[in-house]
Amino acid sequence: MRLLLIEDDAMLGRAMKQGLADAGFTVDWANNGNDAELALTCGVYEAALLDLGLPGKDGMNLLRELRERRDTLPVLIMTARDAVSDRIAGLNAGADDYVLKPFDLDELVARVRALIRRRAAGGSPVLECGALPLDPVQEQVQLDGQPVQLSAKEFALLEKLMQRPGLVLSREKLEDAIYGWGEEVGVQRIRNVRGVGYKVCET
Ligand code: CA
Repeated sequence: MRLLLIEDDAMLGRAMKQGLADAGFTVDWANNGNDAELALTCGVYEAALLDLGLPGKDGMNLLRELRERRDTLPVLIMTARDAVSDRIAGLNAGADDYVLKPFDLDELVARVRALIRRRAAGGSPVLECGALPLDPVQEQVQLDGQPVQLSAKEFALLEKLMQRPGLVLSREKLEDAIYGWGEEVGVQRIRNVRGVGYKVCET
């Protein structure tokens, strides 16, 4: 499952990206509001983790504009422990949940999973291809009723292929699904996700 991480603190962003990747997510990390704004129009994410204080476009404005577009992407905001008014404003602007910095990574992962599960509750998120059901929320795959053990990358690859059964996907698309962006994100890379040309830009 693909997440958009919007965080300008380099150390925190790197740790979160790694921790979420270890938990099986594909993570794209935008470290400023303007890149995040472009990425949010992609429609490829299961959830976004949003820091409110960002260089470029402010996190609160990103959130308001997302909801004005009637985009229901689950958004979890990350705020300072003493910033109660930010938290309230964020929830009023359409955030689905929040965590207080510094937070525990396991709790963050659990909250993100809960958000995705809640959104999927309206319809079955399970992908099926013959005798091969894949549940992206529970991270389970079965074949002929028997559980199949896959690594996080194998799971992401299978999920991507099962989202478009019968279609041949390019190597770039598959790599994108598995690895996400590089350490830092550039605008060209975002344009690739949107399907406008392809140029890797890891700055
Ligand atoms: Ca910040």
